[in-house]
Amino acid sequence: MEKALQGQLEPASDVAAMTFPHLPPQSKAELVDVTPEIKWLRMPMPYALDHVNIYLLRVAAGWMIIDTGIDSSETRSIWEEVFSGVLRGENVVGIFCSHHHVDHMGLAGFLTERWRAPLLTTYEEYFTLRGWPADLEAVPWQHAEFFQQAGFPKEQLAQTLVMFRFSAMISPVPPAFIRLKDGCRFPYDGGDWQVIIGQGHSPEHALLYSSDKKILISGDQLLPKITSNISISAVNPEDDPLGSWFASLDRLDDLSDDILVLPGHGLPFRGIKTRVAELRNHHERRLGLIIDACSGQAISAYELVIAMYPNPLSDFDLQLALGECLAHLRYLRALGRLSAKPDEYGVIRYKTLTTSGSCINKENKPLLHCRNISIP
Ligand SMILES: [Zn+2]
Repeated sequence: MEKALQGQLEPASDVAAMTFPHLPPQSKAELVDVTPEIKWLRMPMPYALDHVNIYLLRVAAGWMIIDTGIDSSETRSIWEEVFSGVLRGENVVGIFCSHHHVDHMGLAGFLTERWRAPLLTTYEEYFTLRGWPADLEAVPWQHAEFFQQAGFPKEQLAQTLVMFRFSAMISPVPPAFIRLKDGCRFPYDGGDWQVIIGQGHSPEHALLYSSDKKILISGDQLLPKITSNISISAVNPEDDPLGSWFASLDRLDDLSDDILVLPGHGLPFRGIKTRVAELRNHHERRLGLIIDACSGQAISAYELVIAMYPNPLSDFDLQLALGECLAHLRYLRALGRLSAKPDEYGVIRYKTLTTSGSCINKENKPLLHCRNISIP
């Protein structure tokens, strides 16, 4: 799904290059030993994204499953093959979910019931999945207003419901969970696994880090090839996900460059500083492109997306592209680089105020959490 949003990445020159020390599983239920304590499995996905990586972490009393795959008859049968094969006679003691997206938490309900084992995740990810309107039949007026302000064609409004068609990929959400917080020790292992919270791609994304083992299980917070989608959605229109994303990148940049990163998609890699620099560059270039595009006449978010992606996008990719464009526009507005004014039809049009200076807030603090809200 991020295919349409993939940027041209430029390696930074002053840090070590990335290396990919492990080949992926060759068949659907194959488990690759990344270390004696960590096994790697891939679950199929129905998008261009192709797969999601699942990790099994050996802990004192058995195995911890890290992320789950979407719910489908195929993924359930792959899990059963794993349980009756390599894990035969073993115990699953918990299901750790990095974030609420269906490829990472869709099967949490199935697995917690299958093993009578708890779900471990963060507060915001758990309740985002529980509260996401997964079966919307009509566009709510709040969403219609959001898309109208973005300049989205009124006659295509029904297409925006594609973001609310996920219920078939989610097994019933478990009625309880163990809450993970930033800095907490992973409660099932004698080692030094620690939770790090990232933001921007999802509200309270959990990563697992071991300084002893020099391993980071990164979910979608840090991917080796594609760029994680950073979007404003109609459900939370005043968010500043790009500001949060940059702040999270800073934290990852503080980790040692020789750690092995186990991502949610793609191959395990070393070279975290290279990747963090690439991602920063990618978004900085994207911000610069928007500054240039808004330097002429004032332009809407939808017009910007059409200019940046001239080839037709699927309904789903169009929503991701628009959400990501809005995230960048909001960041630039907060930085004082753009003005944003509604035209006579209520469409917000953006205009560059100044073309000079960096597009990144060097302190990387979120700049604007709420606009001045006035309720009539
Ligand atoms: Zn995700």
